[in-house]
Amino acid sequence: MRIVVTGGSGFLGSHLSDRLLAEGHHVVAVDNFITGRKSNIEHIDSDRFEFIEHDVSEFIDIKGQVDFVMHLASPASPIDFERFPIQILKVGALGTHNALGLAKAKSAGFFIASTSEVYGDPLVNPQPESYWGNVNPVGIRGVYDEAKRYAEAMTMAYHRIHSIDTRIVRIFNTYGPRMRPKDGRVMPTFISQALRGEPLTVFGEGQQTRSFCYYEDLIDGFYRLLLSGENYPVNIGNANEISMLELAQTIIRVTGSNSTIVYKPLPQDDPRLRRPDISRATRILEWEAKVALEAGLIKTIEYFKAEEEVV
Ligand code: NAD
Ligand code: UDP
Repeated sequence: MRIVVTGGSGFLGSHLSDRLLAEGHHVVAVDNFITGRKSNIEHIDSDRFEFIEHDVSEFIDIKGQVDFVMHLASPASPIDFERFPIQILKVGALGTHNALGLAKAKSAGFFIASTSEVYGDPLVNPQPESYWGNVNPVGIRGVYDEAKRYAEAMTMAYHRIHSIDTRIVRIFNTYGPRMRPKDGRVMPTFISQALRGEPLTVFGEGQQTRSFCYYEDLIDGFYRLLLSGENYPVNIGNANEISMLELAQTIIRVTGSNSTIVYKPLPQDDPRLRRPDISRATRILEWEAKVALEAGLIKTIEYFKAEEEVV
């Protein structure tokens, strides 16, 4: 297939591009580098890879055949919700509309990277796809949550009205090499702090939970979903839940750091719990996460050590 990947120079978009190329597909990556990096795709040496620098909130012009549009473009870190709120709303709304329009014009399939944030601060745990969520539309996180909820609604409307062959993946916290050390998300933040011997900044009392998926597992779930005929949302994430305090302690232990822990205020609307119900992914895709937290951490820490040496 010839596949357009928006957000192709980001953390997940670059790993997805690697996987698609390894499977023999052609990739057209589109990115405006708002949170992505050229270095994530510099290693790609293939005549089946094309890169276009472009903001997908503007009309997307791709020449030739396209079989699938995989729309990953969007800032994704909570610190960006305050920094780039309008760009996030635009890429979720206008970017998704343009990417769907491209899929329609090319008679291609459409795959959207949605998020566990559609469940907001969930009142049920774990979260199944049937849960409608608990989102504050006017809070700081609302720009991201509502953009993704709108993107899902727009995707389903194109499915119903224009018969677009859709895929909706609700991604739960994913980590690994190629995250930026200053990305702001908890994994790169804690690992960078531990490697520098600085205190780890736990927000609130650190009792809030997340469930961390190693990127290789996630990308495998993406690929299975792509090849499946499933048009409705599917959660992809690791079902092992951990508190942020436990995560900080684990990272200090695995890095062998002598960092301490400091407590900082909990951000507004920070979800108290998060764990995917992956029964749909298991049933439809025969997928579950395989990489244990410590194994994924060891590989991610190696990457961040190398990054620290470069910086
Ligand atoms: P990332 O910031 O590394 O990647 C996002 C990429 O999109 C970047 O390369 C950025 O430059 C690009 N981009 C943003 N706006 C754009 C625009 N208007 N035009 C063109 N390119 C644009 O983040 P990531 O973790 O790789 O996230 C990829 C996708 O997965 C996002 O849609 C995100 O919401 C979703 N997601 C990620 C996670 C996770 O844990 N990593 C969880 C839930 C959802
Ligand atoms: N967090 C933290 N310290 C940090 C960064 C994040 O304790 O330096 C917490 C944050 O409050 C949240 C969790 O870690 O409860 C995960 O945050 P992240 O920004 O990775 O993503 P989220 O899952 O909230 O979208």
